[in-house]
Amino acid sequence: TKWVYSFGDGKAEGRASDRDLLGGKGANLAEMCSLGLPVPPGFTISAEACAHYYANGRTYAADLEGQVDAALEEVGRIAGRRFGDPQRPLLVSVRSGSRASMPGMMDTVLNLGLNDETVEALAAESGDARFAYDSYRRFIQMYSDVVMGLDHDVFEEILAEEKARRGYDVDTEFSGDEWREIVGLYKARIREELGEPFPQDPNAQLWGAIGAVFSSWMNARAVTYRRLHDIPESWGTAVNVQAMVFGNMGEDSATGVAFTRNPSTGEKRLYGEFLVNAQGEDVVAGIRTPQSLTEAARLETGSDKPSLEKVLPEAFAAFVKIAEKLEAHYRDMQDLEFTIERGKLWMLQTRTGKRTTKAALRIAVDMADEGLITREEAVCRIEPASLDQLLHPTIDPDAKRDVIGMGLPASPGAATGEVVFSSEEAEEMKAHGASVILVRVETSPEDIHGMHAAEGILTTRGGMTSHAAVVARGMGKPCVSGAGTLRVDYRAGTMTSMGRTFKKGDVITIDGSTGQVLAGAVPMLQPALSGAFSTLMEWADAARRMKVRANAETPADARTARSFGAEGIGLCRTEHMFFDDDRILVMREMVLADTLEQRQAALAKLLPMQRADFIELFEIMSGMPVTIRLLDPPLHEFLPKTEAEIAEVAAAMGVDANRLRERTEELHEVNPMLGHRGCRLAISYPEIAEMQARAIFEAAAEAARKTGAPVVPEIMVPLVGMAAELDFVKARIDAVATEVLSAGGAEIDYMVGTMIELPRAALHAGEIAGSAEFFSFGTNDLTQTTFGISRDDAPSFLETYRKKGIIEKDPFVSIDVDGVGTLIRLAVEKGRAARNGIKLGICGEHGGDPDSILFCEEVGLDYVSCSPFRVPIARLAAAQAAC
Ligand code: ADP
Ligand code: MG
Ligand code: MG
Repeated sequence: TKWVYSFGDGKAEGRASDRDLLGGKGANLAEMCSLGLPVPPGFTISAEACAHYYANGRTYAADLEGQVDAALEEVGRIAGRRFGDPQRPLLVSVRSGSRASMPGMMDTVLNLGLNDETVEALAAESGDARFAYDSYRRFIQMYSDVVMGLDHDVFEEILAEEKARRGYDVDTEFSGDEWREIVGLYKARIREELGEPFPQDPNAQLWGAIGAVFSSWMNARAVTYRRLHDIPESWGTAVNVQAMVFGNMGEDSATGVAFTRNPSTGEKRLYGEFLVNAQGEDVVAGIRTPQSLTEAARLETGSDKPSLEKVLPEAFAAFVKIAEKLEAHYRDMQDLEFTIERGKLWMLQTRTGKRTTKAALRIAVDMADEGLITREEAVCRIEPASLDQLLHPTIDPDAKRDVIGMGLPASPGAATGEVVFSSEEAEEMKAHGASVILVRVETSPEDIHGMHAAEGILTTRGGMTSHAAVVARGMGKPCVSGAGTLRVDYRAGTMTSMGRTFKKGDVITIDGSTGQVLAGAVPMLQPALSGAFSTLMEWADAARRMKVRANAETPADARTARSFGAEGIGLCRTEHMFFDDDRILVMREMVLADTLEQRQAALAKLLPMQRADFIELFEIMSGMPVTIRLLDPPLHEFLPKTEAEIAEVAAAMGVDANRLRERTEELHEVNPMLGHRGCRLAISYPEIAEMQARAIFEAAAEAARKTGAPVVPEIMVPLVGMAAELDFVKARIDAVATEVLSAGGAEIDYMVGTMIELPRAALHAGEIAGSAEFFSFGTNDLTQTTFGISRDDAPSFLETYRKKGIIEKDPFVSIDVDGVGTLIRLAVEKGRAARNGIKLGICGEHGGDPDSILFCEEVGLDYVSCSPFRVPIARLAAAQAAC
């Protein structure tokens, strides 16, 4: 088997596309070599050799050693040296490098091949004993740490003592002789600590380092990192062995890193840092303050340390050319490492550079404008979920954080406000102009108004799909959920954390992007949608097939949705319109009504309120489709809870409070999510659906008159399982339409359709399509009922499922393609067969999840609908799905 791939002298056995085999670093070193760039010669031991090592009880393949020896010979030949040679020794670096970039893997060992003999040769050859012994002591430090497992503290200790003894401030003050002495102390210490000498045989050093790279694949840091990033264990890591070049050979030597464009702003300008007379990781380690590459950058930072452009102009010019060449070759922003040895430039690494979302947008748009990539490629380069960063205020990265608790990052963005413990307090304090954070153990539908009033929501219980999390995301409000270290005491009106107590009115900040809870106010950065952002969204719109709508019911949400480019409303949850203070009372009258007359009296009061809501919504969405879902939740959610509330409703209805209490108890349900809700309500009490339909038609007529651009109301019946249910409700809606029309109303275009959110509905979608002019997949309930897992209770065990490998992803976040997806495909097929051109959409939480959107494109849905703040994400994801 071929385990070893050489590069050097303008040739290479590997190439950029061999990433899986050679790791990112090795593949790109090979590619740079083939491009004719100055790369120190070397070779890569493939990741397959690592896999073989683990498959065979941590032993090497029999033919590996021979291949390494031969490759090392060749490196020496190119460099004009020999490994271990006492006159012209070849020194190498040993570098790990896997397919995915992975911090936590083995650190690089530099200057390998040095021993008591070769260090003298290096000193003689360079005429610089200081340089030679500085390199040797660095090697001993790194090797002992990385390969022999000796903590580097012991060396720092010796170094500090020696510095103090001589009154030196910095390492560079040591002379060659002094470094030689220190090397002696280092070696003695190693023998003392480990009971064995520092290896003098270069071959033993090399195999020690190779073994350490392979072993580091299984170290705890690497294992954890892989688990967090879904990187399979089977990949293994490659090992790169490369001839050393020296940035620490004096004032005409240097080492540095650079990005071909600014990684935080995306600006097209070389951006980087370097250090004179330094080696490898000195730049990153922050031992000395690095200098700017370009003179322009130096002027901007006001540094008095000269730029590389000034210090080593020829090497700088060569580097600029290479940076341009690499960016054009890879057609993306590159992150580069280089070293200059006595004025000569060497390239040590290139890779696609990490960047902020802001930079990613600008770079993608600029590169498309430059003709480097197509617009479609630009669209595909942006991670849709990353746009979230730009759509909410965020905590200033330089701000000090006084962390008092940690929960789940349930809804992105940050918010500051005074602590309140109830939705009533939230509304009241908001009315007095305060900004508040609603702190609850958990939230329920009754808290909607408090959540609206709050700047952010903090709960101590519940997961990423808890009520608080879902509703907060829908509202685009920051939310931290399940902050289990915080204790809320409603009675005392306090929140405690790590011995600190916070009362109502105390100021806290929550960071819904990280899950942190902070004491006090923290400086924020406001979202700024740059030009590149909107340009890229235009390109995405041109590329996508599916429409994107929003789930919205309040005017504020509808406006946000439009400003983010929504093409209609895919879900207006009418129940959310009834939780307001002045309405809940009327709603309770309606729910608790004993007789039809009582109920109709309450409905008559609700009609104008509902109509006014719809008029406003239709005006905002003028010219677009608006899907309105009839009342869906179990009536039980509207019931009065306290004696005071019961008394209030009784008075308003003019009935006896005792009778009302009894009625409340009658309405109680054991399992409300599977109880008297959805279309079941419209079947028990058709007058509710009729009132809603009337409000919709009258509002549509009115809004059309006002704006001249009619909306097309799409009336959606929830929780249908049988065609007969929908037939029944649809007949009522149609009857109301006829009535409104004959009463002198204008002709209104409307549609009646249903949610597909029960397995039975999916199985019988054909019959249901007989009455339904559209289907909207309610994937929250469909997931809940397909799995038989309650969404509200799932967090307590789904995480365990994930950890134990039973499920890969939370099915409430990303559509379960195998199960729920099969039902959706079936319903799509049957629906289309029964009704040509039936309109198909999705309105669950999944409508804003990029993976689920890809699935929606595959099954050919007409639109996705998601919370207003996810509309840009959905637009981009829909475009990528269509590419
Ligand atoms: P990392 O993946 O942590 O960046 P690298 O393997 O790239 O690790 O190396 C760490 C540092 O050592 C980098 O600054 C790199 O440029 C430097 N380095 C690696 N190999 C050599 C070499 N052959 N000659 C000089 N410097 C090197
Ligand atoms: Mg590197
Ligand atoms: Mg539902």
